[in-house]
Amino acid sequence: MIKVPELLAPAGSLDKLKVAVDYGADAVYLAGLKFGLRSAAENFTIQELEEGVKYAHDRGAVVYTVINGFLHDQDLAELPEFVKILESLKIDAIIASDLGVIKTIKDNSNIPIHLSTQASCLNVESAKFWKKQGVERVVLGRETSIKEAGKIKREAGVEVEMFVHGSMCMAYSGNCVISNFTQGRDSNRGGCAHSCRFEYSLKFENEEAKKKAFFMSSKDLNGLAVLEEFIKEGIDSIKVEGRMKSHLYAGTISKVYSEALKYYAEHGNFLSDQIYEWERELKKVTHRAYAASNLTEKADASTIFNERESDPNVDYIMIGNVIDTVKDEFMLVEVKNAFEKNQTLELLPFTGAAVPFKANEITGLDNESVDRTKPSTLVKVPWVEGAAKNNILRAQRC
Ligand code: SF4
Repeated sequence: MIKVPELLAPAGSLDKLKVAVDYGADAVYLAGLKFGLRSAAENFTIQELEEGVKYAHDRGAVVYTVINGFLHDQDLAELPEFVKILESLKIDAIIASDLGVIKTIKDNSNIPIHLSTQASCLNVESAKFWKKQGVERVVLGRETSIKEAGKIKREAGVEVEMFVHGSMCMAYSGNCVISNFTQGRDSNRGGCAHSCRFEYSLKFENEEAKKKAFFMSSKDLNGLAVLEEFIKEGIDSIKVEGRMKSHLYAGTISKVYSEALKYYAEHGNFLSDQIYEWERELKKVTHRAYAASNLTEKADASTIFNERESDPNVDYIMIGNVIDTVKDEFMLVEVKNAFEKNQTLELLPFTGAAVPFKANEITGLDNESVDRTKPSTLVKVPWVEGAAKNNILRAQRC
C-alpha cells in the first residue's frame, strides 16, 4: 500500500464527529466550550468530548482539540485544569498557536502539540523554531504551496499538515481585525464575522466596476485535483475546513477525500473519470466557486469570488439520517428537512456512489401514510440496497 496523508475533518458537534468518522475521516478536530477559535460552533462539553473520543477511537480514528486562540492572562488561568481533563480523556493532540498556551500544555500534560495555522508558519526556519518549542506537527499557513510544504517537512523534520478543502481567509490565516472594527467581534478569540465576504459600497469609476464589490471574498479551496501532489510530497495530514458547516458537508467531503486517498493507496494513481465523479460530489454541498488557491501557484485576482451567493441550483440538502434498517422492507429515518411522498431522494452510502430512489411510500411509526414529513420526526421510507445505520439521505434543493 502506498502511504497517503491522514484525512482530518472538522467536527463542529458530536453528531458531526460521528458523521465524519463514519464517512471515512482518519482524524477529526473539535473544540471544547472554551479556548477554540469558533466560539459560535456547537462546541463540545466534557461529556461530549468523552463520548466523541470513544466513538472515534473505537473506529480507529483520532481526535485533536483546538486551543488556538491568542489568550489573555485571565483566559490562561483556567487552561491547566482543562488540559489535564483533555489528557485524562485521551485526546490525541492539541492544536495551539499561542506560545503561552503551548508552554502551559507542556507544563501540565504529555499531549502532543500541533501548531495551528493561526501561527502562519510558512518556512523551514519557522518550522524548526516551533519544533524546538515542542511542536510535533505544523499546520502550515494557507499561503504555503504543496511543494513548499514538502521542503519544510524534509528540512525541518516535523510533520506537516495542510488545508485541502473549505473556506479561505483573506488575511494571513485569521490574523485580521476587520470583524473587531466592524462588529466588535475578535477574530482571534473566536468571533470572526466573515466580514471579508460582505458586500461593500465604495465610490466606483463606473457602473460596471460597482458590480464587483465583493473584492475581499475568496473562492473556496478545493485540492482534489492536486491530491497526488500532496501524496508525492509526503504531506502527513490534509485538513478540511468547516467546523461550522453542515452534517451533509462533513459527510460528503469526508467520503470523497477518503475514497480518493484509499483508491490511491491501493492503485498508485487516479483515473480521470473518477476525479470527475468526485468533483461532481464536491459540487453537491453548499460552496462558493472552487479554486486551488495557493496549493500550486500563488493565489491572485482569479481566486476572488465576486458573487453574493453560491449557485443554488447545484446545492443538495440533507433530508435526514438512517436510524435503522429492515432489509427488503424499510429504512427508519430521522427527518431533518421536510420531504414529500414521491420525491426523489438519494442515499449516501459510506462507500460507493449515491443511490437515488423515489419515496413512493412514507409511513409514520403508527404505520399511517404520510404525504409530507415534518422535521424532527421519525418516518419509514422504502428500503434501499446497501443502506446502513447513520447513512445520510439527501435531495436536490427545490
Ligand atoms: S473576516 Fe475574513 S479575512 Fe478576517 S479573519 Fe474572518 S475570514 Fe479571515
